[in-house]
Amino acid sequence: MQTTTRVAVIGGGVVGCSVLYHLTKLGWSDVMLLERSELTSGSTWHAAGGFHTLNGDTNMAALQGYTIKLYKELEAITGLSCGLHHVGGVTLADNQDRFDMLVAERAKHRYMGLETEIVGPEEIAKIAPVTNIEGIIGALYDPLDGHLDPSGTTHAYAKAARMAGATIKTHCKVLQTTQRSDGTWDITTNKGSIHAEHIVNAAGLWAREVGAMAGIYFPLLPMEHQYIVTEEVPEIAAIIDAGGEHPHVTDPAGESYLRQEGRGLCIGFYEKLCRPWSVDGTPWDFGHELLPDDFDKIEDSIAFAYKRFPALERAGVKSVIHGPFTFAPDGNPLVGPVPGMRNYWSACAVMAGFSQGGGVGLTLAQWMIEGEPERDVFAMDCARFGKWITPGYTLPKVIENYQRRFSVSHPNEELPAARGVRRTPMYETFTEMGAVWGAQFGLEVPNYFSHPGEPDFETPSFRRSNAWGATKREVKTVRQGVGINEVHNFSKFLVTGSNARSWLDRMMAGRIPQPGRLSLAPMLSHKGKIIGDFTVSCIKEGTFQLTASYASQDYHHRWFLHNMQDGVQLENISDHRTGFQIAGPKAAELLQTCTTTQVSSIKFLGVVEMIVGSTACLVQQLSYTGDHGFEIYCDPMAQLSLWDTLWNAGQPHAIAPFGMRAMMSMRLDRFFGSWMSEFSPDYTAAETGLDRFISFKKNTDFIGRAVAEAERVKPPNRQLVVFEVDAIDADVVAYEPVFIDDKVQGFCTSGGYSHHAEKSIAFALVPRSSVTDTLAVEIEILGQRCKARRLMEPLL
Ligand SMILES: Cc1cc2nc3c(=O)[nH]c(=O)nc-3n(C[C@H](O)[C@H](O)[C@H](O)COP(=O)(O)OP(=O)(O)OC[C@H]3O[C@@H](n4cnc5c(N)ncnc54)[C@H](O)[C@@H]3O)c2cc1C
Repeated sequence: MQTTTRVAVIGGGVVGCSVLYHLTKLGWSDVMLLERSELTSGSTWHAAGGFHTLNGDTNMAALQGYTIKLYKELEAITGLSCGLHHVGGVTLADNQDRFDMLVAERAKHRYMGLETEIVGPEEIAKIAPVTNIEGIIGALYDPLDGHLDPSGTTHAYAKAARMAGATIKTHCKVLQTTQRSDGTWDITTNKGSIHAEHIVNAAGLWAREVGAMAGIYFPLLPMEHQYIVTEEVPEIAAIIDAGGEHPHVTDPAGESYLRQEGRGLCIGFYEKLCRPWSVDGTPWDFGHELLPDDFDKIEDSIAFAYKRFPALERAGVKSVIHGPFTFAPDGNPLVGPVPGMRNYWSACAVMAGFSQGGGVGLTLAQWMIEGEPERDVFAMDCARFGKWITPGYTLPKVIENYQRRFSVSHPNEELPAARGVRRTPMYETFTEMGAVWGAQFGLEVPNYFSHPGEPDFETPSFRRSNAWGATKREVKTVRQGVGINEVHNFSKFLVTGSNARSWLDRMMAGRIPQPGRLSLAPMLSHKGKIIGDFTVSCIKEGTFQLTASYASQDYHHRWFLHNMQDGVQLENISDHRTGFQIAGPKAAELLQTCTTTQVSSIKFLGVVEMIVGSTACLVQQLSYTGDHGFEIYCDPMAQLSLWDTLWNAGQPHAIAPFGMRAMMSMRLDRFFGSWMSEFSPDYTAAETGLDRFISFKKNTDFIGRAVAEAERVKPPNRQLVVFEVDAIDADVVAYEPVFIDDKVQGFCTSGGYSHHAEKSIAFALVPRSSVTDTLAVEIEILGQRCKARRLMEPLL
């Protein structure tokens, strides 16, 4: 048997085979797949084979679109059939909220080039005649929806990979993975040992067990899932006999998906009474069997389905498929280089292998071969969960996700499962002050503070929420006096050592500041994409603090470690340094009463170590609210003492806490972009205006320099522009289409309502050639085309 390979892909389900194929497609042919049994011996063989593009995350939706379009390519390459049925599909809406969601999705699809359509009840009855349209107000029609043969498709991926030089070993079970000091892997199998440069864990139902062989915990869990295939249904038989096919119907209200199967129907459910499977580990002898039928847990769903699809009630049951498949806590796959590991890649927790498998394979292959994926894939990056995650968190989140599979996802929604797992010392104090909490990377973060008479729960909505009044009040507090919040939801890294400055100069495209100063520094990938938006503070020569997005700390840490050099020490101190931010016209006066340091001597972008009250702090003069403000960092053990100092000193100025809703409103006034909205690996610095923070003067070949330089010579086609929108009761969230001259020519990156300026604001990428000072456009918000005008001057 071949004993060396560049890449060993563990697992021959649809995902492993797709990864293998894409590695060959992008140029690596010395790749091998190890499968403990036959191909498709995990979840893959019992999948219903349905596929669709709809996904709340736009990049995930694009990758699903890629996956679906790939099948014809596979058939052409291999001559094998994927059993494709491009029958189209409708997703029903039985209430306004659900309809709003579909309309918002349709709007996103406009600039993505997806030909979806909103259809009314009468059209639904024509397109999908087995549907009882009573109570239905509309649907999203997607011509790309369809289904395929799971086994045929997996074998098509495998054959295409083999044709390009890949090796597939079946009945080859991986027993152990051991890393050598050079970062390569020894893989022990029942057929002998294999030496591989890289491992890809695509072990599906056994991904946890395979991960544990390398000491990795993958936050995923199998859930039981059931679908029913009926005997012949006369209505379907008639359609087939007339040469047609019935489309898919997804009925979120009934938590069901339905499609034609043979001359009958097939219906599956995401039931509330769901059950996780094999919580403590997947047995190695599982694989080709099904779970026993369980009609009790889907009894209510079936009753609902009989009303929505009356033909079902008259049909006999031909077979029941009940099997497990895996989910991550948020339902998206776990893909990419595993943080803290060398040459270990994840392609796990793919819950919709036939919608997502192609995109996962492409993404991983690009990452391995080209060093980075072509788009922002944070929604499925395994680094989006930190080391804090445990099975105790994963279990309730996976159940919650399964139950919410067809629920409406609102942009302002905070999900209830597994909350409070990470809190700062301020949690009790802020709770008593009325904090309404959100969660970021497991950490509780106040969204706003509810005063008596104000709602203590923010109603999930696509429109302006009931937190409007409280947010407005908090904005006013900051703009007119002084507000306070924590700095806990920034990531923080400490960089020290004799080469700290030169290393940062290479990592960051921005200027690295002198001692006592800070700078705002974009971090670019080799392809010039924005992969970080940092504040770099030089505490003293050779000692720097970096701050950025809390939720991206593992994503950034992984990149830093990947690019480490001698003479640099890097420490992730995100949870070891906390503190507060005070902002507003009274902030300096407040701070002065707490310290003997001359606050007026701290310049804008200054960094000073000083005592505040009785606490040793690092103080920086800047604020994301756009006000005169200070970030005050301290040891978490001293946080409550610092709070007492600042809070008491703030009383004469009517200090009040403010939350993320107010913060995100205030940043709009100064046109401050936001990480993962304007600043993400989807965009370059020149597209989003972040290039003004690039130091082209510095004599360093910083990562991404070549692209940034090229864009100076030839500016990119897109440009970020800020608009004031004539919005009605809903503001821009992200990805709304922008119409110029009645044609979709751009899309929004983010937006919201400025309570200070009392304007609805949108950030949008539009063609550079269209940009003028007076550019007027239309932005589609929840189906309404709202007029919008370019803003040239910040609102503060
Ligand atoms: C009832 C049901 C219906 C579904 N319907 C759909 C649908 O309509 N559309 C859709 O997109 N998805 C559907 N799914 C989900 C779909 O099946 C999964 O997304 C997909 O199969 C995941 O594929 P995978 O390759 O990641 O994992 P798996 O299919 O579990 O494959 C993992 C492979 O790894 C192998 N392996 C594990 N450990 C080792 C080891 N140590 N050494 C060697 N090999 C190993 C296993 O033998 C297995 O073949 C459904 C799932 C179920 C249960």
